[in-house]
Amino acid sequence: MNGGYMGKILFVDLSTETIKEEVLDEKMCRDFIGGYGIGARILYSRQKAGVDPLGPENTLGLITGPLTGTPIPGSARYAAVAKSPLTGGWGDANSGGYFGPYLKFAGYDGVFFTGISSKPVYLLIDNGSAQLKDAGYLWGKDTYETEDVLMVEYGKQSHVACIGPAGEKLSLIGCIMTDHGSALGRSGLGAVMGSKKLKAVVVRGNMEVAIVDKAAIENPKKEQLKFLETFMSQGLSLMEQQHKYGTGAMTYGSAHSGDTPVKNWGGVGVIDVPDRSGLHHDVFAACVEKGHACWHCPIACKATLKAGEGEYRYAAGCHRPEYETAAVFGVNCANNNAESINMANDICNRAGLDTISAGTIISFATELFVNGILTLKDTNGIDLKWGNHQAMVAMTMKLAKREGLGNILADGVKKSAEKIGKEAEQFAVHIGGQELGLHDPKLASGRTEAAARYQMDATPGRHTAGFGPAGFMNKVVNAAGLCTAGAPNKYMAEFLKAVTGWQWTTEEVLKAGERIANLRHAFNLREGINELKWAVHPRIVGKPPQTVGPLAGVTADIEAQVYWCLGALDWDRVTTKPSKAKLLSLGLDDIAKDLWP
Ligand code: SF4
Repeated sequence: MNGGYMGKILFVDLSTETIKEEVLDEKMCRDFIGGYGIGARILYSRQKAGVDPLGPENTLGLITGPLTGTPIPGSARYAAVAKSPLTGGWGDANSGGYFGPYLKFAGYDGVFFTGISSKPVYLLIDNGSAQLKDAGYLWGKDTYETEDVLMVEYGKQSHVACIGPAGEKLSLIGCIMTDHGSALGRSGLGAVMGSKKLKAVVVRGNMEVAIVDKAAIENPKKEQLKFLETFMSQGLSLMEQQHKYGTGAMTYGSAHSGDTPVKNWGGVGVIDVPDRSGLHHDVFAACVEKGHACWHCPIACKATLKAGEGEYRYAAGCHRPEYETAAVFGVNCANNNAESINMANDICNRAGLDTISAGTIISFATELFVNGILTLKDTNGIDLKWGNHQAMVAMTMKLAKREGLGNILADGVKKSAEKIGKEAEQFAVHIGGQELGLHDPKLASGRTEAAARYQMDATPGRHTAGFGPAGFMNKVVNAAGLCTAGAPNKYMAEFLKAVTGWQWTTEEVLKAGERIANLRHAFNLREGINELKWAVHPRIVGKPPQTVGPLAGVTADIEAQVYWCLGALDWDRVTTKPSKAKLLSLGLDDIAKDLWP
């Protein structure tokens, strides 16, 4: 096996309690690299279309890339994949922390689960062997408690990916958590794990990731770090900024620039939250207990918080909110109270809820409340008005517990709107069932695919995915196991070459990204999904445009963006089917056969 790969993956059938080890196919690694690339290849090949996302036939995978756990900055990343219960199509999520590298140190590149266990279990992967263990005593515990109990049992060198009560209760915005606050957040994959009665996966090991040419990593790594240390923003280098403020460095500026959506995507920051002082990065920084990093990452953008001492009594050691969390529970809920955002973040992390979806749902419920579609009776007396941070936190707690109205909201805005009726749908901001990341594409409407990427990625609602050729490199960064925050794009061919020993040119890297994009898209086509038919809420693109503020008069021309990208991809502009020639040129012969019988 080439460098970077441990060469083995595990397949666990939870219904029969059988565990099989398979040798990783070299050609698959070369073609699909790792992470969600290999994940998509395995699910497309081995899972049939139309399975129930919460049924035994859905496959849940946790999979690393060849660069995960290497000395390259940001090499902590790994992916979770499955058919998403939120969108009914391809689902993936990505996280840093320690779990990914330690899965490799335990001897495996990935693990895939099918079936449903008859009782709660966890999987222990311990230095080359794996066994299922009873998790009855962990069921019901939050993600922090679950990790703590398992790490006492298996020692500090063990790492845990687990679900909390949200995943157990099949909340469709449930996520998988590691390291007290790192989330495999998107696509509702916590519900898939919960449906399988799989509480956790524990990894422990001391194997090494083989690197073919260690010295060849040094130059690109030096250049990458030099860029991060010298590129200035807000008077600090990118590296210093990330250390001090994390991704939350942009919360304050974005609140008024038109970048962060306001009041459920319907408001204007400068008008609706004129005082944004509570969202300043120094306010969040004052809450920090200590900074920390994902595995061996010099960028170290994470931090834990001191115990909340005021109105919100979160425990010390909880995770500092990322930009997306601070934005969605901040101005998107017309809120400028940092402590309440810390609290809402902690509630979600402990319950195992995707904060992007959870915060969007709270803003959706707030808008229903102020428009009289929900009443005090529906909210159990919670006065869910814009900017009422106590109400926002109280409703987040209900969401986490699936209590009262929270039981309806826990399945996302699309399904909630269908259940609530009374024209609630007009306030449900989502694409394909998934709530959106917190960067308004209207601000970047001049960019070729800023709005299209939200609609057309196989897992919709993401600003990080990219659509069309602009997204190819991102696919590889993600699949290889690197963090986009480290700005590694320029060095991907060199890193992959040094670690795996295969000759990689930038052209080949981009082709691999294109192959992954086509494969994820083909998964959706096989499920009967044409992403073009996913309705885009008019607020996302500015139809009609806002009349005041930085986005006044702006409508993102999403149709033109999609048209351009579909052409560049050689995908049909009506059916979105990739051409047969394109699929064959990428070596996706089986998909060409499926789509062009
Ligand atoms: S940049 Fe931040 S999120 Fe990315 S790997 Fe490093 S510490 Fe983790």
